[in-house]
Amino acid sequence: MSLVVQKFGGTSVGDVDKIKNVARRVVESKKRIDHVVVVVSALGDTTDNLVGLAAQISKTPPEREMDMLLSTGEQVSMALLAMALDELGQDAISMTGQQVEILTDTGHTKAKIRHIGADRVVQELRKGRVVIVAGFQGVTSEGEITTLGRGGSDTTAVALAAALHADCCEIYTDVDGVFTADPRVVPQARKLDEVSYMEMLEMAATGARVLQSRSVEYGRNYSVPLHVRSSFHEGEGTWVKSEDDIMEKAIISAVTHDFSESKVTVVGVPDRPGIAARLFGALAEANVNVDMIIQNVSERARTDISFTVATDDLEKVRKVAGDISEAVGAEGVNLDDDVAKISLIGAGMRSHPGIAAGMFQTLADKDINIEMISTSPIKISCVVRRSDGARAVQTLHDYFNLSE
Ligand code: ADP
Ligand code: ASP
Ligand code: MG
Repeated sequence: MSLVVQKFGGTSVGDVDKIKNVARRVVESKKRIDHVVVVVSALGDTTDNLVGLAAQISKTPPEREMDMLLSTGEQVSMALLAMALDELGQDAISMTGQQVEILTDTGHTKAKIRHIGADRVVQELRKGRVVIVAGFQGVTSEGEITTLGRGGSDTTAVALAAALHADCCEIYTDVDGVFTADPRVVPQARKLDEVSYMEMLEMAATGARVLQSRSVEYGRNYSVPLHVRSSFHEGEGTWVKSEDDIMEKAIISAVTHDFSESKVTVVGVPDRPGIAARLFGALAEANVNVDMIIQNVSERARTDISFTVATDDLEKVRKVAGDISEAVGAEGVNLDDDVAKISLIGAGMRSHPGIAAGMFQTLADKDINIEMISTSPIKISCVVRRSDGARAVQTLHDYFNLSE
């Protein structure tokens, strides 16, 4: 029995005509595949618009209510797609995260999936129906609705594919696949035929929006092959799979950028044990993910601690870091949302020295100042001024010949 989970992103279900298009595509798939599960995002810019409405009311809306609001978007698209399938004579049923039993923790607005029941999905599939699942949403064991963080429909899809032991998970989107850089920033970026889970994970974590990073983790942990492809034509996209199955191993696979992070500096922190633990403990408590961290060399028994967080969390950080700064006698907190994080990703870095030096020199030649650096075995990230971001990506893409 073949089973495929297909996820259609916001632009793919942007209006009624596009929804009808998706329905036709699903019907075509159903002729080839025994069981088709479809995960949908909200229509077009719906989620952004809902975020905008909330922002007009509060800078820090209660996160539970944010989830009540944001989860409505996907319910609209799932029902409309079910109607469109019905219209084409294909039996279909739409289901919310709660109906599917997508159980999450209580981390409102970026909840993590704990368990997927999916019994009802299986029952409905056995009746020959296409099951349409609202992406991005889940439910806690207390019955509270949660959402999985921006781009979370990807994770709904891959997690469902894992739970249902699907043959693969197809991510239909508005680009032809995964590229060597965001094609909107680097027009000559090249589509990758395949990329390893590990590299894709680093790409997603450093801003390549095309897949939410947690979805890639699911893919890797449960060995679900992912096929990222265009929702507008039939062409092959990019396969994300295990490194052992990758034919062509490039030294550098991609340059990514992230304009959605901000830099925070706690200035003049007394240099004594336990302060970093206290600061980052409090941020974790407030459900804030911290990305890069740098602590400067101590002078006069005081030091600066800089770190990056999602700009969406900046108001929370202002409060939490402000309180800790005062409590430990630091000199204050600077928030800077005018930065960009630029990253170079490639499994071949492990065995090729000099990549970091090449990256730093390329940026220096363009007079782009590096404010923070972090590395992993297959990634180098630099924080630069936001206004230098696009130029940095373009320059690095050229320098490492990624179009070829
Ligand atoms: P969807 O609504 O289908 O989930 P997203 O907007 O979340 O789509 O993700 C697709 C977008 O990701 C593309 O339009 C593209 O601009 C962006 N993107 C960023 N980096 C990359 C990359 N390396 N390869 C492909 N797309 C990328
Ligand atoms: N609609 C949600 C968002 O815009 C989830 C998704 O599209 O994946 O982030
Ligand atoms: Mg997305």
